[in-house]
This record gives sequence, structure tokens and C-alpha cells, in this order.
Amino acid sequence: MSTKPSAGTVCGPASPTAGAQTRLHPLPLGQVRITSGLWHERGEANRLASIPRGLDRLHEAGNLRNLDIAAGLAQGEAEGRIFADSDVYKWLEAAAWEYARTGDEQLLADQLSVTEVVARAQAEDGYIDSVVQIRENKERYRDLPHSHEHYVAGHLIQAAVAQVRATGRRDLLEVAIRLADHLAATFGPQARDDVDGHPVVEMALVELYRETGTREYLDLAEYFVSARGRGLMASYGREPTYFSDRVPVREATTVEGHAVRAVYLAAGAADVAAETGDAELLAALATQYDSMERGKQYITGGLGSRWEGESFGDPFELPTDRGYAETCAAIGGVQWAWRMLLATGEARYADQIERMLFNGFLAGVSLSGTEYFYVNPLQLRGDAHPEHERSAANGRRGWFDCACCPPNIMRMLSSLGAHVATTTDAGVQIHQYANCTIAAGDLQLDVETAYPWDGRVRVTVRQAPTTPVELAFRVPAWATGATLDGAAVAAGDYARVSRTYRDGDELVLDLPMAPRLTRADERVDAVRGCVTIERGPLVYALEQCDQADGAPVDDLRILPGAPFEVEHRPDLLSGVSVVRTTGRVASPPPAARSPYSTTPAAAREENAGREVTLVAIPYYAWANRGPQPMRVWIPTA
Ligand SMILES: [Zn+2]
Repeated sequence: MSTKPSAGTVCGPASPTAGAQTRLHPLPLGQVRITSGLWHERGEANRLASIPRGLDRLHEAGNLRNLDIAAGLAQGEAEGRIFADSDVYKWLEAAAWEYARTGDEQLLADQLSVTEVVARAQAEDGYIDSVVQIRENKERYRDLPHSHEHYVAGHLIQAAVAQVRATGRRDLLEVAIRLADHLAATFGPQARDDVDGHPVVEMALVELYRETGTREYLDLAEYFVSARGRGLMASYGREPTYFSDRVPVREATTVEGHAVRAVYLAAGAADVAAETGDAELLAALATQYDSMERGKQYITGGLGSRWEGESFGDPFELPTDRGYAETCAAIGGVQWAWRMLLATGEARYADQIERMLFNGFLAGVSLSGTEYFYVNPLQLRGDAHPEHERSAANGRRGWFDCACCPPNIMRMLSSLGAHVATTTDAGVQIHQYANCTIAAGDLQLDVETAYPWDGRVRVTVRQAPTTPVELAFRVPAWATGATLDGAAVAAGDYARVSRTYRDGDELVLDLPMAPRLTRADERVDAVRGCVTIERGPLVYALEQCDQADGAPVDDLRILPGAPFEVEHRPDLLSGVSVVRTTGRVASPPPAARSPYSTTPAAAREENAGREVTLVAIPYYAWANRGPQPMRVWIPTA
């Protein structure tokens, strides 16, 4: 008989062993409680709307019925994609973390009833993939580049680890162990030399090793990481780049191919490097991360600029209107950055997590928690054609034919608290700012802030050890001019204060929140001559319905140097701070046969029309009032 672990001991999704080569240690999930503010509100929408509605959607779309059929509880044909089970497992993972957060008994009951079906669907030898079991003539691993069988297994294992950590129940863990044992017996240097086309099993197997102590799982993860880049996909007649299989992971210098696959693989490799102490592998991953951040990431943190193959483009190939930036890629990006942060302790990775969470990730779910974006472009034109269910021109959708993103968002939001703070022998590091309580051993802190709307973060010590302890605050790279207790602190690093604290001691971090105009490297041709408005961690966007007199967003220009006005609007979009500044409406060009002209731009400036007030909202909140023109990058007047 298992009992529910106390909240303070529930480890989060990535929990390195004591022997791992990491500089920072995650805090158990329940030791950071986000109590109010933006992330609390998004978490409540997740709990009250996304997760319950998600279970309905999994019923409606046939994912759960596939498992029923495989379990012998129903009859019929499999529905949906070959990896349909993975959406169920991501939902189970979200339900588990959410149960740890709130103790909602319905979430436990729903998890266990789904788990029971999964257990019944599992084959004698541990294999499970309901669609393959039903549809593929029971022929396993026939087309690993596209069958996603390890990918599905990875999500099952991650859900099982979440379930045992959050609920103490081993039901799904027993399924995961039988599955992992089957994988270990089937694949590897002594067995079948092959990898799945879609990574995630690497991260999952390392976490199962962390949970169970079974070294074989870590070895298999290490094998899957090292087997890539040696021609396995080509042996199926497939071009290897899409599958992150062109170059061995430890020799790669950049990210390429399908963005979600690439970042999941990198995150799994970072887990392997941490547990095996492989400094060379970690260094290769840092090089790849640098390359991604330097030229393959949108200002929103979004990853993957091509619709073709949902893939990374060439360096600086970052179109705004055709940007793909799949929500799952932002989630995978956070997972990779989190592991790099744990390994290195470098603030830049926490900066990256902040950028991805507040922008590229959060844009993926509506404020109601019931509708989603799969693709997150940085511009929607007034006359965009809604040609595809993933197109932003179609607006947010309740679900997708390929529904990877919605349950991925759910598990990210329900485990968000695990990404706020860490510990070392010296003390506690606060990486993300939210109204929360943090408990780390003898040290208890209250964090009060209206972040991201206000830059003041007040930390009150509620309990402290009698010996000196270090508190470290991330000062984001954008926060030039930040102060801690009135003294200047360097941006882009941690501000550290080591001393003996007493109950009631306060520290106040002030991050400057003046809006700023950001430009892109000239090689990002798509946005040359444009700027974005950023404020704090948020990227802003112009959305049509906020603009004065209906001035078309497509025609707006910004006057650099014009003053900004910031107003917090509790009534707007669940409460946002809007930024206003001055711009112009470009006059429509004289009727012409083509958009090309020999008239120099300067001459056409004379045609620039009336001055208008530009009203910008946080990018994440766009398309909550219907799909309409939007742009992040604004041409300068
Ligand atoms: Zn997705």
C-alpha cells in the first residue's frame, strides 16, 4: 500500500541523482508554491479548463479508445496518428504534477483509471503502442524513423515517473519498467542497432534510472544518444538531417532538422552527460546551444523557422509571417535550457527559460486554457489565407489532428514551479520571479512581486539557519541598471548575498522595466529596418483591435525615440500592461501594377501619413479576441 508523498518531497520532472555532475540541484516540486500572479493564473486555467477538457478531447479524438481496443475492452480500428498514445501519456504526466500541486482527488482517480487500461493494453513481453498493436498488423519497429514507438514509450515512462513521484502509486511505473526492460532487451550494441526517428526516450530513460537506480536504463539512453549520426536513418532510405541523424551528437556544432526532435535529443543528451560525468558531451551541447541562440531563435524564444519539416532554418533565416515556432519546440527548449542550467549554473540559460516561457511557450495557449496554437508566427497579415489547421490565420483551435502541443503545454504549466529555484551547498538560487514561497531545508523565503508587470521583487526570510547562507538572484541580461537593496548589480549574472539571515530580513531586487526597442542582427533579413518593443521579460506585439481609428497594423510604422507610456489594464486580457508610443500610418502607395519601384524609399517617406498612437500588448496574449492582424517587428518611420 503506497501513500501520497508529502508535497515537499515530490521531485520534479528532471531530478539528477546525488552523484550527477551538476552545479545546481532542483528543489522538490512542492517546495516552491506559486501563490498568485501571472503564472498562478495560467496554472489555474490549466487546472480548471485545460486538463479536464483535455481528457474529454482524448476521448473524442479516439486516443483513449485505441488503448481500450488494445486492452481488449473495445473493438474496432485504431484512430489518429501512429503516436496517438503519446498524447494520453503527456496528459497523465500533467495530471500527476497537478495532483502534486493541488491534491485534487479527481485528478488521481482519472489518472488511475486511464493507467489501468494502459496496463491491460501492455503485451506480455512489455511492448506497448496501441496503434501498432491494432493497425500495423502487429508488426513492431518496422519503420522506426516514422513509427515513433520509442517516442511513445518515452512519454509513457515520463508519465510513470511523474505519477510515482506525485502520488506514490507505482501502477504506471510497473508498466514503464516492463517496457524499459523490453527496450533494453531489444535495442543496443548487443541487440538491434537502431534508434527512433523522434527522440524523447533518452530523457525518459535517464529519469527512470534516477527513479529506480537501474543502471541499464541509463546505459540504454547513452546508447540511443551515441547511436545517432551514424547512418541509421539513411539505412531506411531517409535523409538524416530531419531526424538529427546527420552528425553524431558529440560532434554536432549546431541544431538542425525537425526542431522538436533536435531539442528533445539535446535535452536527453544533457541528462546523459550529467549522470555519466561526460564533460565532452556537455561541451558539445553548449556549443550547439550557442549556435541556436545566436542565429536560430526568434526573439520570442520560438524555435524552428520552417514549415517544411517543422525544422530549424539556416542561421538568421527567421521569417516572421511564415515562422513555425511550434509550441512543443519552446517546451523542449525550456527542457534543454533547464538541464544546461543545472549542469553549468550559468544565468544565460535561466534567461533563455524566461524568454521561452513568457513568449514562445505562453502564446501557445489561450487565456481561457481551452484553445491552442501549434504554430507561433510573429506576424499575421490582414489578408492571410487560413490554408491549414495549424495556420495562425485560422485562430486558436480547441485541438489538432496532430495534438502534440496541447497536453505538452499542460505538463509544462503543471510542473512550472520546479523551474523557479535551485539549491547548492552554499544556498538558494532564484531563477524565475513569481509570487511564491520557497522552502529549502532550514531556509524559507516569501517572494512578493507583480512581475512581469513590475520589476520590484521583495524577498522576505521567514526562517533561516544559524550559519551564513547565500541567496542568489538572477539579474536578467536585459536588466541593465538593476539594483539589489539599492546597490547596482550586474545584468546577465546572479547577484549573490551571503550572510547569516534572521527571520524577517528583507532583500529588494529592482529590475528596470522601461520599455525598450530591440533590433535584430542585419543578417535576419526578414526584419531589417524593424524594431520590437520589449518590456521586462515580455515581447510586445501590435494587434489590430487595439489600434486607434482602425489604422491597419500592416501599414504601421514606429517613430524610434518617441516616448513610451505604460498602463496596467486589469480589465484587459486577464490583466496586462499595455505600452503606447507614437507611430505613423504609411500611406498606401499610388496605384501600381507591381510592388516594385525605382522610387527611393526616402522619397516615399514623404508619403508617410498621419501620426498615430501605437498600442502594444504582450505577444503571448494575442489572438484571444479572434484572429486578426498582428506584428511583433515594426518598421521604423
Ligand atoms: Zn507540438
